[in-house]
Amino acid sequence: MKNSGSGRGWFAMVCLAALVTSGAALGQENTDYSKVQIKVTKVSGNIYMLEGEGGNIAASVGEDGIVIVDDQYAPLAEKIRAALNNLGITDKPVRFVINTHYHGDHTGGNAPFANRGSTVIAQDNVRKRLETGGTAGNGGSLKMDIPPAPKVALPVITFEHDVTVHLNGEDIRALHFPAGHTDGDAVIFFPKNNVVHMGDDFVRYGFPFIDVASGGSVQGMIAAMERVSTELPADVKVIPGHGAVSNLDDVRAFVKMLRETSAAAQKAIDEHKTLQQMKEEKILAPWKQWSGEFIDADKFIETLYNSPTGTKGEFVKHN
Ligand SMILES: [Zn+2]
Repeated sequence: MKNSGSGRGWFAMVCLAALVTSGAALGQENTDYSKVQIKVTKVSGNIYMLEGEGGNIAASVGEDGIVIVDDQYAPLAEKIRAALNNLGITDKPVRFVINTHYHGDHTGGNAPFANRGSTVIAQDNVRKRLETGGTAGNGGSLKMDIPPAPKVALPVITFEHDVTVHLNGEDIRALHFPAGHTDGDAVIFFPKNNVVHMGDDFVRYGFPFIDVASGGSVQGMIAAMERVSTELPADVKVIPGHGAVSNLDDVRAFVKMLRETSAAAQKAIDEHKTLQQMKEEKILAPWKQWSGEFIDADKFIETLYNSPTGTKGEFVKHN
């Protein structure tokens, strides 16, 4: 992958930019979308991963047409469509877009795809959050205003627990995992091709962004990734929300880090340490290789502190 090595910071900044600029701030961000190129990687069988700017896209491309998981940013929609057509597999359109969660770097293309006839599918809370907008953040210093999305960008099919799209000879299944990265996360399974798209419940840019302000929690993220990694075949190909195609060992290393860092934070909380003390004592020093430009150790301490105590930040709960 061209982004390995320095990729961590790159993905991180993209993710931050995405959150800051999603929706209303259209056009005032630094990104020059005309310079973004879409890189297509064959993952397995008829499943491809597309990288440009924003979250990874998974695509099922076959005789029935195209299903994509996530759609990056609106200005990239034409390039994404062109990249898919250039595979030369089908002339049929992108029939369905499945959103893994509501953040703008994964849903920004909903409007242009919907305008060209795609049906957007997502978990109930994704539609609610896109519709109302709100504040995303880690319950601490990381806070981003998310403006309401235009009506055309809203998913027209939503599900509470799971939904299956039967296309290209595969039962493409989206399954809701509550309270991980957000409260509307879906993991998308391509069982015939042995591929899974994790959304932002699994990322490769270091400590993860957990949107505590949008119903996310570290415990939910651990639970989701543990369940997925115990139930999937050992050789499943894993598409992370951000970063290179991975495997279950990568997911397990990520979960191990989440467990250990949460335990370290809980221990400090049990000792009645303040957030400031936890930062000063650098309680996450043993995991410093995970500290990234987007979520550095201090921001992840805030996340861990706010996630288990549940008393900080602005909580917007959907049932
Ligand atoms: Zn996200």
